Amino acid sequence: MTDDAACTCKVSRTRDEFDLEMDDDSLVAAWQDGTSVRELTRSFNEALIEARLDRLDGSSTTWNRLPVYDALKTDDLSEADVIEIQRELERDGVDPDELRSTLISHQTMYRHLTSCLDASASPDPTPDERREKARDTVYALQRRTTLVTESTIETLQNTGTTDLGDPDVLVDIQVLCRECGYSADFDTALTEGCNCP
Ligand SMILES: [Zn+2]
Ligand SMILES: [Zn+2]
Repeated sequence: MTDDAACTCKVSRTRDEFDLEMDDDSLVAAWQDGTSVRELTRSFNEALIEARLDRLDGSSTTWNRLPVYDALKTDDLSEADVIEIQRELERDGVDPDELRSTLISHQTMYRHLTSCLDASASPDPTPDERREKARDTVYALQRRTTLVTESTIETLQNTGTTDLGDPDVLVDIQVLCRECGYSADFDTALTEGCNCP
């Protein structure tokens, strides 16, 4: 728990109340590493449920194995399983609706990250993300070149201007290094780099 959590939103209040080990730094770091707000919310809520069930006097140790979160917050379980888990909770003196109401929504988590902590999902794209984007751009162009070439040929065929039978168009993108002579297809060149010192 960090002291710099000046906000009083549900995330902070819940975390303080139940001593959850999810400080703001690790939340932001996980988010910026690509963990979705939905996943963060889920981890948070699971930790909350565990903390609350841990506080029960004389509760059975079978709790951790029960997917309480799924029962309360998702449609992933069968109705029979959900009823079973809710009964189990009630038997231990927990009101399922009350427990559900203490869970945070992913909107709340999102607001905590963006408004309370003033963080953004990914301030700088990683090298992998930049390469991915470059690939998307170039391959979209490659596909387009193939399509345009094919339809151009078709037009020529329809007007009897060319004698091509059943043409297949291949667009190959090669990258060469003028310095060292390395050559490879675009994707390989992008990941491998050339042989220049
Ligand atoms: Zn907050
Ligand atoms: Zn080179």
